[in-house]
Amino acid sequence: MNYQVDEKGYYGNFGGAFIPELLYKNVQELQENYLKIMYESAFQKEFNDLLHDYVGRPTPLYFAKRLSEKYKTNIYLKREDLNHTGAHKINNTIGQILLAKRLGKTRIIAETGAGQHGVATATVCALMNIECLVYMGEVDIKRQAPNVARMKLLGAKVVPATCGSKTLKDATNEAIRDWINNSHNTHYIIGSVVGPHPYPDMVARFQSVISEEIKKQLKDKIGRENPDAVIACVGGGSNAAGAFYHFLDEQHVRLIGAEASGQGIDTGHTAATLAIGTPGVIHACKTMLMQDEYGQITEPYSISAGLDYPGIGPLHAHLNETKRGEFLSITDDEALQAAFLLCKLEGIIPALESSHALAVLEKIKFKENEIIVLNLSGRGDKDLETYMKVMARSETV
Ligand SMILES: *Cc1c(COP(=O)(O)O)cnc(C)c1O
Repeated sequence: MNYQVDEKGYYGNFGGAFIPELLYKNVQELQENYLKIMYESAFQKEFNDLLHDYVGRPTPLYFAKRLSEKYKTNIYLKREDLNHTGAHKINNTIGQILLAKRLGKTRIIAETGAGQHGVATATVCALMNIECLVYMGEVDIKRQAPNVARMKLLGAKVVPATCGSKTLKDATNEAIRDWINNSHNTHYIIGSVVGPHPYPDMVARFQSVISEEIKKQLKDKIGRENPDAVIACVGGGSNAAGAFYHFLDEQHVRLIGAEASGQGIDTGHTAATLAIGTPGVIHACKTMLMQDEYGQITEPYSISAGLDYPGIGPLHAHLNETKRGEFLSITDDEALQAAFLLCKLEGIIPALESSHALAVLEKIKFKENEIIVLNLSGRGDKDLETYMKVMARSETV
């Protein structure tokens, strides 16, 4: 089995580049140059120096003693929550901005749903003094005011998408329209392992620093590089792809992804793409997605804004189809319980997204001698309002 992308940008049956003709030149330019640029030694040096000095890498691999006692196994948390800007997303935006500079691009666009990717993009544009436009659904702009403020503080222009449901997919359409109109000078920073080839592979490679570090850190701590299982939450799938990357060919390492099932996979309020999705094209990529009988994308729902995506990266669709990966659906309530537990047991307030990965520990019973690495993709400060509402609700019952 092969879990790397082929020359046409496919992982098995999934991937490709279903782009409008007007974008062909840009996408082809990326396809032809990304690997060459990424693996130049000067690029690697600049990338790694920024990850070290600006992002704060390597992030710790922390043995969670009390959590391990509770679940009677050995749980290590990969602390992506300690990165600058509070999540893994910055690994990718640093990589892409360096790539954009080398391609001679002078303008950056991005789309964002919850605003997390928008903030990570605005951050690196400030760092590099490059113009930044972030497309965001009008509804999301209202829902995510603190992240909109962060982007503006960082000097980005936040452009509302006023069509359709005024959420992420509409922002994506606007971003693609902009890219078509400004293809000569603009790079489009996609925030997860989604979109047309080469984005899924490129983003997975930038995020693969996560599993590269895990290997070294496990070796130092316990004398072996491979855990028995790696667990990560999956929205588009970039933190999971990064945490899985260097274990893809290690067949005895279980790769476990947690999707958001929202209120439940049968409720119509869900984002569990692999559980209820079917093959189709979204974001210029063939993958699994949530769609109605007419092939129109259905609006996803999850309590965690970062998992609220109606598709999934083609790598994960392939890992699921070939059974190399195991994908579980986690409800809002299960994620919340897992979040509260981590706060109490370890003194770490996790992002709601990451809490979906934590909830897997309730669903899979690991053995006492097994080594489990759980990717804690982000910190929970941004979710405080949600946590406060839930606490207020449980105090009144
Ligand atoms: C955006 C986000 C995610 C989901 O994105 P992936 O591409 O699936 O990793 C997960 N966790 C956090 C903290 C996020 O901000």
